[in-house]
Amino acid sequence: MNAGPNESASEPRWVACHECDRLHRVAPLPPGGKALCVRCGAFLYHRVSDTLNRCLALNVTALLLFLLANFYPFISLKLSGRIEKNVLLSGAVALYRNGMVETGLLVFVTSFLFPLLTILGMLYMLLPVRFGYRPWHLGTVHRVVRAVAPWSLLGVFLLGTLIAIVKLLDMATIIPGVSFYAFAALVVVSAAAQTQLDPRALWPNENRMQPAFHRGEGTARSLGLIPCHTCGLLVSDPVGGIPAHARCPRCGTALHRRKANSISRTWALLCAAAVLLIPANVYPVMTVIRFGQGEPNTILSGVVHLIEGGMWPLALIVFFASMVVPILKLIVLSFLLITLHRRSSWRPRDRTLLFRVTEVIGAWSMVDIFLLAVLVALVNLGALATIRPGIGATFFGAVVVTTMFAAHSFDPRLIWDYAAAPNPAPERRRNVPPAEEPST
Ligand SMILES: [Zn+2]
Ligand SMILES: [Zn+2]
Repeated sequence: MNAGPNESASEPRWVACHECDRLHRVAPLPPGGKALCVRCGAFLYHRVSDTLNRCLALNVTALLLFLLANFYPFISLKLSGRIEKNVLLSGAVALYRNGMVETGLLVFVTSFLFPLLTILGMLYMLLPVRFGYRPWHLGTVHRVVRAVAPWSLLGVFLLGTLIAIVKLLDMATIIPGVSFYAFAALVVVSAAAQTQLDPRALWPNENRMQPAFHRGEGTARSLGLIPCHTCGLLVSDPVGGIPAHARCPRCGTALHRRKANSISRTWALLCAAAVLLIPANVYPVMTVIRFGQGEPNTILSGVVHLIEGGMWPLALIVFFASMVVPILKLIVLSFLLITLHRRSSWRPRDRTLLFRVTEVIGAWSMVDIFLLAVLVALVNLGALATIRPGIGATFFGAVVVTTMFAAHSFDPRLIWDYAAAPNPAPERRRNVPPAEEPST
């Protein structure tokens, strides 16, 4: 098969690193090769041979697996002759029925709606482009897919389900259904679909949109360019400032030199997360009722129970995902913000790496919420055994969401802006927060 249409384009193209703003000339890569930023090591682009066909095949497979995963029984629980059957959505529905509307909605959105939107959006873009047509509103759909994809948490849901199964094994018989296997395959296929996509193939023959320039040393900003946050297109930065409501000509994302109000927004979200962390750990996340006797569990006491039951590996996973990750995220993001306030030039590459890791591991905190959803749906056998969700889970879900938003609103390019800028006179600049982009 031929390479993607974009790969035949011979004109020089440029790409700005989304984490440090360094400009790079796009070099031809061997199939499977990937380009990293020379300054911060961030992933820039890769070349996947036959990317359109591969992605199309993987997304069609993902859609079929998604349908299979939702129309067949997910997991069944057998205890003292009684059977509780479940479908994939049972967890979200069970939380909703127990009065946990927000948590139920969070589970529904991250394990059903957003994964489905991602697959359908990809098919909507890939199918026409593959046959040489430009689909209607390609830019808008691309923007939606890019926005929801980080919230599509299929892998985390699978981990939560596996922990629930292991946890219930000594209490009852667990029978995974067709849907469970289809779901596990879906996790693998959709991860492959993401890695096999070279987004440049979606915009064939649109290289000419880039402004012409010949100097490539330095950052996009220093060369008078604004990279689109979503599709990466370089747009000329008008001398008089970006006009209000200026949008990327390719995908329609609002243009900013840096993420708008990044520092204050990240601080606000971090403060909210820190406050929410208290009720999330004080109130019970679930109550296990066996033979009519209830026992409320907080996140920490849940971990202690797992240790007492000899399930060390599970206890470690839950402890790491639910206690260590959210607190570490708060500390790391606060540290990064403080270094920005101090206009620090200390190890910008390491600080960028720290941010990258924080952003990636953040979503895994959701494992406790998914574990709860599966347990509440499965263990619903009246007086024999019932698990009810607690209000702590709502607060914990809110912590995960706010810390994820905080990481999204942090702009790592500010680290490099201040590292490169000469230090201002200390007496005038002390405690003055770095100037941010006006939200144009
Ligand atoms: Zn970089
Ligand atoms: Zn764009």
